[in-house]
Amino acid sequence: MLTESFPPGGNQERTLPLAGKVALVTGASRGIGRAIALDLARAGAAVAVNYLSDMNAAQAVAAEIIQLGASASIYQADVSQSKEASALVEEVVQNLGGLDILVNNAGISRDGLLLTARDEDIERVLRVNLLGAIFVSRAALRHFMRRGAGRIVNISSVVGFLGSSGQCLYAASKQGLVGFTRALAREMASRRILVNAVAPGYIQTEMTEALPTAIREKYLARIPLGRIGTPKEVADMVLFLVSPSASYITGQVFMVDGGLTLG
Ligand code: NAD
Repeated sequence: MLTESFPPGGNQERTLPLAGKVALVTGASRGIGRAIALDLARAGAAVAVNYLSDMNAAQAVAAEIIQLGASASIYQADVSQSKEASALVEEVVQNLGGLDILVNNAGISRDGLLLTARDEDIERVLRVNLLGAIFVSRAALRHFMRRGAGRIVNISSVVGFLGSSGQCLYAASKQGLVGFTRALAREMASRRILVNAVAPGYIQTEMTEALPTAIREKYLARIPLGRIGTPKEVADMVLFLVSPSASYITGQVFMVDGGLTLG
């Protein structure tokens, strides 16, 4: 699964909040995942960049991380496949010497009315967005338990809370992640494994560029801050949740949405 690795850099100063930590970010070759990978690296973590198909983009992210003076390696895996998800975690642990932080970011949307949705689209969205996070988390838990600590952040969406016509599959998967987050937080609290979710609103990425203009304008009109968010603004919340500053927070969902869910 590991296609290329890069030597550790010198960004291990003790003053950085994530110095000495190993982080795995799924779907990190672009968009929000890329921003999260860069933020965690800036904070001192060694970052495993998971990607599905675009190796060049993943390599570019790793190269950016190395330029920051941190350590990065790239790992191809389809997180929606149980075996690949487990193998991904095992390879990261083997190559980087452990795992402390998991960010379940990989996600897709297949929008359209439920009435005409195809079986393969229904299964694919739930498989990637929900089962993917569950498979990778399960594999990571064993290593977190060995370490006696761990952080998981699941990337949900405001669509899971607000609903959105034409996004039934996506909404179901993203609210499913919330239930998963809350249950796993309870299950793992005694092991000092903290599990939280971040629900972004309307963020500027290739995923939202693909939305029909009518839906984009509808969202924009409803955002109190009056603008689309940036991947970095989501990444900064994730960084907080995996940092020592968030040691008393588990089972929570944080909206990063410019006030969209205020109603
Ligand atoms: P994106 O499409 O740019 O990135 C998603 C990444 O996930 C891609 O790199 C893709 O290759 C990867 N991926 C897809 N299926 C995968 C699989 N089976 N295994 C491994 N990787 C896989 O989208 P984004 O906007 O950066 O979204 C990132 C996350 O944030 C997603 O979970 C998305 O649902 C969520 N989100 C995005 C927005 C937004 O406005 N952009 C809002 C709310 C939530």
